[in-house]
Amino acid sequence: MTETAAPASQVYTWEPSNAAIAARYGLDPADILRFDTNTSPAPPDGLPGWLAEPLDPSINEYPDSSYAELAAAASRYIDVRPDQLVVGAGADEVLDLVAKAFLQPHGAALVPVPTYAMYGVLTAQRDARMVTVPRRPASEGFALDVAAIRDRLDEVSVLWLCSPNNPTGHLERRELLEEVLSAADEQSDPPLVVVDEAYHEFVGETLTTLIERHRRLLVVRTMSKAFGMAGVRVGFGVASREVIERLERVRPPGSISTVSAHLASRALAQPGYARENVTRLAGERAWLSARLADMGLPAVPSVTNFFLLRFGDHAAADAAAESLLRGGIVPRTFGPANPLRDHLRLTVRSRPENERLIEVLRGL
Ligand code: PMP
Repeated sequence: MTETAAPASQVYTWEPSNAAIAARYGLDPADILRFDTNTSPAPPDGLPGWLAEPLDPSINEYPDSSYAELAAAASRYIDVRPDQLVVGAGADEVLDLVAKAFLQPHGAALVPVPTYAMYGVLTAQRDARMVTVPRRPASEGFALDVAAIRDRLDEVSVLWLCSPNNPTGHLERRELLEEVLSAADEQSDPPLVVVDEAYHEFVGETLTTLIERHRRLLVVRTMSKAFGMAGVRVGFGVASREVIERLERVRPPGSISTVSAHLASRALAQPGYARENVTRLAGERAWLSARLADMGLPAVPSVTNFFLLRFGDHAAADAAAESLLRGGIVPRTFGPANPLRDHLRLTVRSRPENERLIEVLRGL
């Protein structure tokens, strides 16, 4: 989504399509490269055989609403029981289930900013209030400010956390997350603590091992990033039974298509596929960062498949975004209220696509 998200009563503006961007800049839609969506590039040698195999032809029937095959595959991959999981049409649907189950109109959610903008959208859609607390400064990697979070925990029913964090690319220290979880548990009415691990595979760190100790913790995962399957729309929530039961009550029965459920199940049985992708993208991130540093544009250190570039002032960031767009490269920009207003966020893509980014940046 873009930074122009409006209050709940208004219509949201999501990312413009390739066709819309091409029309605006007089380009061919086929030449538009998305450096704004944090998706993975297509595999260099095409889809592996196990993913491209013909699908079960039973698309005339509705999917099994319990998604037993998918939940079993995810439980093996994540190493939890199938009943400690909820499935969703992407991590975004799991986050939406959280908002539906845990946020009341006039309730409140707490969020350390900057972070993934969808938490604000989902909170506003429930007519709930966003309590924002700043993160530590850039010099400290935008880490969580535990004291600032602790101060406001008694006001909210949901705490939205993201590690590694989008858009900073920073992995939160486990001790800090555990301090926050303990502080949340100590509340008289403990909030749900969501830890969005959409970029988990890029680091291997996880809090799924804590779901029984912290019974109000929900860990969120996705097939969209390391597995390179954003178009398939499959994600998961992992938590204690009491949290899963509340999410199941608001889950629609068939939001994941039969085709998507099969594809995701196949991929979950091939974790090496995600690992190879992560290794390749880490190499590309290092390559891209080195080229950018040579050009006097040091990337903010990141553990993920995206990173921030700091331009120093709003006007410079806006001018760079405009020049990139004219060259068919779509960066992620940040709106006026965002503390990262003078930054752009770029996704790490394939070598030929990254080379085109560098070429366009050289022409700035
Ligand atoms: N959480 C974070 C932190 C993300 O960056 C994204 C994707 N941009 C999502 C969730 C949504 O993932 P999905 O495609 O699984 O809905």
